[in-house]
Amino acid sequence: FKVRKKLVVGNWKMNGGLKRNAALLAGLAACGNREGVDVVVCPPYPYLAQAVAAVKGAGVAVGGQDLCAFKDGAYTGEVSASMLLDLGCAWVIVGHSERRSLFGEADAVVAAKVQAALDAGLSPILCVGESLAQREAGEAEAVVCSQLDHVVDVLGAERFAGVVVAYEPVWAIGTGKTASPEQAQGMHREIRMHLERRGVAAEGVKILYGGSVTAANASQLFAEPDIDGALVGGASLVADSFSSICAAA
Ligand code: PEP
Repeated sequence: FKVRKKLVVGNWKMNGGLKRNAALLAGLAACGNREGVDVVVCPPYPYLAQAVAAVKGAGVAVGGQDLCAFKDGAYTGEVSASMLLDLGCAWVIVGHSERRSLFGEADAVVAAKVQAALDAGLSPILCVGESLAQREAGEAEAVVCSQLDHVVDVLGAERFAGVVVAYEPVWAIGTGKTASPEQAQGMHREIRMHLERRGVAAEGVKILYGGSVTAANASQLFAEPDIDGALVGGASLVADSFSSICAAA
């Protein structure tokens, strides 16, 4: 059994500006270079270079919030994996529920993006999660497993070992309604078992929880055996809160 190092990822979404980012990034210096936890921040595309420069030497990595599945060419408005890499990103979030629901990203697109990220040498953070209606209908596990299957089918089991999974129940994102540690652990266990069934070396796969993670609830979540860190939205915009979450990991 290999111990999985914790990972805390901040997703700024479409927030920030040069001035505000500078203050936030300066406040993140305390997050990095901690034993037992890797830290990543994901600002909007225009601020990636600013973030990479600001966290240099601080032990904090930078990631994109999305990428294009295509390599290069006539795709107006899109950003490729190699561009992210070029700017100094090591990570990229793929298939966030906001991309899926607001921008119509289908499972096939998400899978192609994960593949493009790996092909370029970026580490993809694949987001999966059910809606409230799906949970209430008892479909949560089936939905999440199907989202995973689309990616495993495209990558193959061996390559999937290079993917970080983020379980983000849609009803918990930005709502202040965190999944209970037991609820989250239950789904994380199910995800790991499902990946194992698909032939993935799942004990080594990091599974992050996302959905209203705060400084107040992080340590309880991190205490669960299959919760390997967090994908943090709102609380990643406040340096003190994000630092406390990193410290709890
Ligand atoms: C997210 O956007 O991935 C997220 C989990 O947001 P929040 O922490 O604000 O719920």
